[in-house]
Amino acid sequence: MTRIPLIIATRNAHKTQEIAAILPDIYEIKSLADYPDAPEVIEDGDSFAGNAALKALQISALINGLVLADDSGLCVDALQGAPGINSARYAGEHGNDSANNAKLIQQLSPLPAPYSARFVCAMCLASGGKQLAAFEGYVEGSISLDAAGAGGFGYDPLFIPTGYSESFAILPADCKNSISHRANALSMLRVELEQLQA
Ligand code: IMP
Repeated sequence: MTRIPLIIATRNAHKTQEIAAILPDIYEIKSLADYPDAPEVIEDGDSFAGNAALKALQISALINGLVLADDSGLCVDALQGAPGINSARYAGEHGNDSANNAKLIQQLSPLPAPYSARFVCAMCLASGGKQLAAFEGYVEGSISLDAAGAGGFGYDPLFIPTGYSESFAILPADCKNSISHRANALSMLRVELEQLQA
């Protein structure tokens, strides 16, 4: 089987791992860990879709092949959509998951429960600096102020998807990967990828 290389425009190993687990084996998943000289893209867009496009277009202008960018985050209704596009740096330092979770708990504690929320995942597929396709996936749920579980990453210990009673960090990876925002965006993207390969 000839595998189709797909470069994920991220240095977040968790995202790469989830995308590799969700997509069929025909895709040979690489990430920016395989391209250490690739620049840091400044994510100064004002939406998930805008930031996904920035990453996909800039990286695909520099690296040959199909490039897929994922810009994602958590939107909490009681916080008017925060942390939103600032999810990775909500508490200040980029990618400090425990500080981000602590800040979310601190912001929500004075407010009345339940705390409805959703994860959003914007994906942009590009090649040669040009956009080929863009999709957005969602998963609805609620925030628990008691962090639970060691799986997943980011806000997973606090997020309980609708229809379940345990957090994404407790539910098996297979379960998260079948219902997540990332899985929903990728199911639309798969159709596009199949058409591009046809
Ligand atoms: P990005 O790298 O700018 O797209 O920011 C992603 C941030 O959103 C991560 O650092 C997490 O805080 C959060 N996030 C995105 N997807 C997930 C997920 O599947 N589980 C938990 N947190 C997530």
